[in-house]
Amino acid sequence: MEKSFRVTLIHIDKIMKKVFIYKNDVPHTLEIAAELVEKLEAAGIEITDKTDDADLIINVGGDGTFLSLMQNHEFPTVPVAGINTGHLGFFQEIAPSDIDRLINRFLKGELKIQPYNIVKADIFFKDGREIAHRALNEFVIKGQGTHPIHLNISINKSFIEKFSGDGIIVSTPAGSTAYNYSLGGALVDPRLHLLQLAPMAPMNNTAYRSLTSSILLPANDTVIIEPCDEQWTSMDILYDGVEEKYDDIKCIELTLSRRKINLVRYSETTFWDKVKTKFL
Ligand code: NAP
Repeated sequence: MEKSFRVTLIHIDKIMKKVFIYKNDVPHTLEIAAELVEKLEAAGIEITDKTDDADLIINVGGDGTFLSLMQNHEFPTVPVAGINTGHLGFFQEIAPSDIDRLINRFLKGELKIQPYNIVKADIFFKDGREIAHRALNEFVIKGQGTHPIHLNISINKSFIEKFSGDGIIVSTPAGSTAYNYSLGGALVDPRLHLLQLAPMAPMNNTAYRSLTSSILLPANDTVIIEPCDEQWTSMDILYDGVEEKYDDIKCIELTLSRRKINLVRYSETTFWDKVKTKFL
């Protein structure tokens, strides 16, 4: 008797699915989020305030909101579905009019997941301190203010170039369609696991020689960036648009993180279909 009671409890627990909702505070987003909560509750789905307790995270907003969800909640590995109320919607694939279908597929266990790489930067300071940040799109490393910066760039242990210019950006395949693309970097299908290093306004003349195109690196490679001399140890570092100013930097090591986020791929569209509709 006691045994069958326990089995029933486990069953109830299993069907009580939980969703964590993240959103921006734009009025249209708030309207859609309110509709979403109503529909989730009507379908018997619990709203949780913890990402690690959730079976699904739903992000309501644009790609910028998606990036802030990742930064504010430590890149959760729980599947994330994006309802687009923003402009571009590269991560945000689901139209607000498709909420019912999303809930239906979630309840039936029919959501398809695509893993996305994250890039990690370990920043080492001259006094021995170190800090780390992660980004879904990219790291931007540049001089403070409007001055060019001079950086030694190595791949693993091989010195590649002395870079001079505005800065460099190191992006994931997901980030290839963002700042990287505006800088002339290559568009990369997120099924590929690689890092892309793109120069920002590289100086290339008789005094300075910098690579002028982006380069693609295999998943296990490490990009090492060091100031050329004492004058360039202060840098602006941006990760997914979050800006920090640091002084006394000794070097920065960038690698693909072992952690991946899991995006709910809702439509059957491929990466290149998205590129076509958003850019061409
Ligand atoms: P933001 O206003 O949140 O984003 C700027 C634009 O980038 C928005 O239109 C956003 O789309 C779009 N976006 C974000 N991630 C994208 C992706 N993976 N693929 C295609 N488009 C994407 O600006 P922010 O808070 O300063 O920085 C967030 C991101 O903006 C950065 O990670 C960087 O990639 C990008 N950015 C681009 C430039 C540039 O192209 N010149 C300059 C600075 C920053 P939604 O409208 O859907 O939010």
